[in-house]
Amino acid sequence: MNDTIVFLKPIFQERIWGGNRLSKIFNYNLTSDKIGECWGISAHKNGDCEITNPEYSGYTLSKLFEERKDLFNNDQSKEFPLLIKLLDANTSLSVQVHPDDEYALKYENDLGKNECWYVLDANEDAFVIYGHIAKTEVEFRSMIEQGKWDDLLIKKHVKKGDFINVPAGTIHALGAGLLILETQQSSDTTYRLYDYDRTDDKGNKRQLHIEESIRVSTIPHVEKQVHFDVHTMGDNTFTKLVKNEFFIVEKWDIKTSVTLNHNLYRLCSVIDGTGKINGLKIKKGDHFIITSLLNEFTLEGDFSLITSTVGSIK
Ligand code: ZN
Repeated sequence: MNDTIVFLKPIFQERIWGGNRLSKIFNYNLTSDKIGECWGISAHKNGDCEITNPEYSGYTLSKLFEERKDLFNNDQSKEFPLLIKLLDANTSLSVQVHPDDEYALKYENDLGKNECWYVLDANEDAFVIYGHIAKTEVEFRSMIEQGKWDDLLIKKHVKKGDFINVPAGTIHALGAGLLILETQQSSDTTYRLYDYDRTDDKGNKRQLHIEESIRVSTIPHVEKQVHFDVHTMGDNTFTKLVKNEFFIVEKWDIKTSVTLNHNLYRLCSVIDGTGKINGLKIKKGDHFIITSLLNEFTLEGDFSLITSTVGSIK
C-alpha cells in the first residue's frame, strides 16, 4: 500500500521540432521520432497526467489536486501550480516570450509563465537564445521591423549540466540539439516573436505575436547573477538551482541512504540512475510527487533527481 508517494504517467507530445532522444536517452517506449515534449508532471487541461498508483485508480493529477487537498499541504490554488516537462529540441524552437501573472490573468485568463531549464544533454555546438541587446522599446521595435535578428538576440552556448532561469518577460529560445528538463508555472501562454522565417510543407509561416511580445518583454534585458547553494550529507549532494515566489528547484545527487524531513509536497523527476524511495523502486524517467502526508522519507541508491516545491503556498 502506497498512498503517500504519487506516481504519474507521462504524456508525450509530437512537435515539428521534436526528435528521438526521449526514447534513446530516457528509454521511453515511443514510436514517433518527432516527440518534442514529455509532460512528466502536469495537471494542465492540455495534458493532465494519470496517477498510476492502484490506490488512486481513475484519478488524474488535476482531480487528485482538487479532491485531496490533504496530499498537497492544503494548497488552495485553483489550479495545480507547476508543470514539469522534458523537451527534445532536435531543431530550434521559435523565439518567444511569456507574460507575467498580472498581464496573463488580465488578457489571457491564464497564469503567467516563469520557467527554468536544466540541460540534460547537449550537442557540442548547442546554444540558447537568452535576452536581447536593445536599450529602449523604440530600439527594440526598430530592430524587429528591420529584421536585424542576429544583432538583436543574444546567443549563449550551453552544455550538459547547465541551468538557465527564464523569468517571465525574458526573450528566449532553445537551439537545436538540446534535451532539457523544464520546470514552469502551469501555463500555456506563449508569444512568438520570430520563427527564423520557416515555412511548413504548405509554405505557411507560423503565427507571430509581435505587438504582444513587445508589450511583455523586459527592456532592457536583465541578466541576473546565478548562484547555486550546495550542501552535502555524507556522499549525497543537494544543489539549490533557483528560488523565487513561484518555485524552488533543486538537483539532488544520491549515492548513499539518506532520510529527509518533509512538510510540503514535492515534485520529483529521476534524470539518471536507479534507486528507491521508502523501499519503492525508482529509475531514470520516473516522475512522482512526495505528498505532504509524509513527514519524512528515505532515499537510497545511485541516482539524480530534479525536484521542486511551490515557492509560496497561497
Ligand atoms: Zn518558454
